[in-house]
Amino acid sequence: MSDLFQQEIKFLTGVGPKRAELLNTELNISTYYDLITYFPYKYIDRSKFYTSRQIGSDLSYIQLKGKIRGFRLEGNRGRKKLIAEFYDSEGSISLIWFHGVKWIKDSIDENKEYVVFGKPSIYQRQIHLIHPEIDELSKKEAKLSSGLQALYSTTEKLKTNYISSKTILKLQSNLLQKISERIYETLPAYLVKKLNLISRKEALINIHFPENPELLKKATFRLKFEELFYIQLNLLKLKTTREIKFKGYVFSKVGDNLNNFYHQCLPFSLTEAQKRVIREIRTDLGSGKQMNRLLQGDVGSGKTLVALMSILIALDNGYQTCLMAPTEILAKQHFKTLSKFTEKLNIPINLLTGSTKKANRKIIHEDLQSGQTSIIIGTHALIEETVIFKNLGLVIIDEQHRFGVSQRSKLWKKNVHPPHVLVMTATPIPRTLAMTLYGDLDISVIDELPPGRKPIKTLHFFDSQRNRVFGFIRKQIAAGQQIFIVYPLIKESEKMDYKDLEDGYVSISRAFPSPEYAVSVVHGKMKPEEKEASMQHFVAGRTQIMVATTVIEVGVDIPKASVMVIESAERFGLSQLHQLRGRVGRGSEQSYCLLMSSFKLSSEAKRRLETMVRTNDGFEIAEVDLKLRGPGDIEGTQQSGIAFNLKIANLGQDGQILQYARNIAEQISEKDPGLSHPENRILVAQLQALKDSSINWSVIS
Ligand code: ADP
Ligand code: MG
Repeated sequence: MSDLFQQEIKFLTGVGPKRAELLNTELNISTYYDLITYFPYKYIDRSKFYTSRQIGSDLSYIQLKGKIRGFRLEGNRGRKKLIAEFYDSEGSISLIWFHGVKWIKDSIDENKEYVVFGKPSIYQRQIHLIHPEIDELSKKEAKLSSGLQALYSTTEKLKTNYISSKTILKLQSNLLQKISERIYETLPAYLVKKLNLISRKEALINIHFPENPELLKKATFRLKFEELFYIQLNLLKLKTTREIKFKGYVFSKVGDNLNNFYHQCLPFSLTEAQKRVIREIRTDLGSGKQMNRLLQGDVGSGKTLVALMSILIALDNGYQTCLMAPTEILAKQHFKTLSKFTEKLNIPINLLTGSTKKANRKIIHEDLQSGQTSIIIGTHALIEETVIFKNLGLVIIDEQHRFGVSQRSKLWKKNVHPPHVLVMTATPIPRTLAMTLYGDLDISVIDELPPGRKPIKTLHFFDSQRNRVFGFIRKQIAAGQQIFIVYPLIKESEKMDYKDLEDGYVSISRAFPSPEYAVSVVHGKMKPEEKEASMQHFVAGRTQIMVATTVIEVGVDIPKASVMVIESAERFGLSQLHQLRGRVGRGSEQSYCLLMSSFKLSSEAKRRLETMVRTNDGFEIAEVDLKLRGPGDIEGTQQSGIAFNLKIANLGQDGQILQYARNIAEQISEKDPGLSHPENRILVAQLQALKDSSINWSVIS
């Protein structure tokens, strides 16, 4: 069977080399397996007939029964169209074709009854069916278009080459005729039985040709479950393999440094969420297993403090820690914050970045190797091979999604056994997504902000209200505050966006002229040193306004910056807007986020801006984002192919099935960690097969 599945698509009846090429380039379908797992995006009920009087442009697909008459050609040579009237018992409606004109005209018999099927649309102010599907009523291909009919996504190019959704349906039918008797089961028999699933064969037939709504539901569930289940099982297997393979250093002691810090240096009491997370980390560190934990918490939730307390636990147990941040600015900021926290304790902390001077670097390297230095903060400079630790016990990675897997894994190798790993992210992602993206990690969440914070006020303005916004900015600057003004940067049109930023900079400089005002600018085209220097000007308060692209997104802490103006806010994704907003609200003053947009907004853009105005809760925003955009676009998911490669499940909608799949996978791995029980053999084979296939199983750590 697996050989048959791997058969090239060109060998299928109705395909041939040219179509095979198109299917391959347009839909990535090159084998039987690819086709059978090319699932419909929706179904329409073709047992129901409408009449021409019931049609409105708000309807999705409809079908009608009647006769086609009165063909006429309209338009000039360049853009000819064929129009015909379709008459049923209650009236008529126009049908339009822009291509295939001659063929349509010749093949329709004005005396015969037809079933037409399509999506009503408005053309020149009237409702039409454009390029409807047409079947002779007497010959109606009963099986393909009776009850629920599958619809498949196609592309423009496929359509102009006469490969429509219906063509794909026909190919599925041809394929199933060939292989349906040889579709084997891919889940263990006991599981199919226990979970009351339908067989794989039944599922694949019904997903393309639903016998009835009930079976379609079962087929969908079975296929979604299977897809999510194997991802979870794979993640859990990675996790158990790692736990078996690596022994963790045991940090059993609660020592002076942590105690003194807690009782003497902590300027405030911990939030309940911080306490809980620290407990989770402490349990890990003392467990004898290597910790692999993700710490999620919104901007300003106090992750740094949790990091510091973990560092002190390592220190009390005689181990070194390194904390790695994605940029020099962030590393310096952490260095400053941590040094300040630990001032009274007299614990030396060191900083190593790309710009550390050579002589100094040499000393730092020596001190790390001799064990003189226990705590080192830095950037990528930390993973270089020349950096050798005496006894590295804990690695903390900030904004981990900015690092590649291979970069992070280099830190793993800096001791005999891999050190404990804590990765931190300020990009909240919904639980379901985290379960998949970080399913091989344990997850801690700080879901509470320290008390007494003034929530950032978010307001939406149209471009026409710019003068009011500028007036507000002047007042804030007069009160000693600093302002961010951010312009969008989208990869596809970097040039245009750069122009936006340049124009913006010019008009901002005009509205806020020197010497009264000073404006900094930072964008992606600058050299890192230039960026850094410009940023430092702003951090030091020498400029009041920072005009920037999204390069300032992550982590920078500037207490005097209390206003974030986001230009063309409708062009940003939700999580990005939220990240940007998080750059302000760090000081004691009331902070503001002002979203500027044009007047014309898509409904999705409206929803994003409304969500921003309504809530400051990063997790809530992430949920909305996931629903609006689907998982592929959510920040932090890009390096994991998983979210992209799902064929049927949708992480935004199938949270419940995902949780169920995770539970089942957990039960199995607990009972049979090595998956060595004979009845689980099929699981191992299937994991291997999926690994060998094109699916990207890349994992985070
Ligand atoms: P983030 O999670 O974004 O890294 P930080 O760790 O930078 O957040 O914390 C944001 C601010 O909140 C810092 O100034 C920090 O000192 C302060 N902070 C952290 N924990 C508490 C707490 N429990 N009570 C009051 N302030 C806190
Ligand atoms: Mg932080």
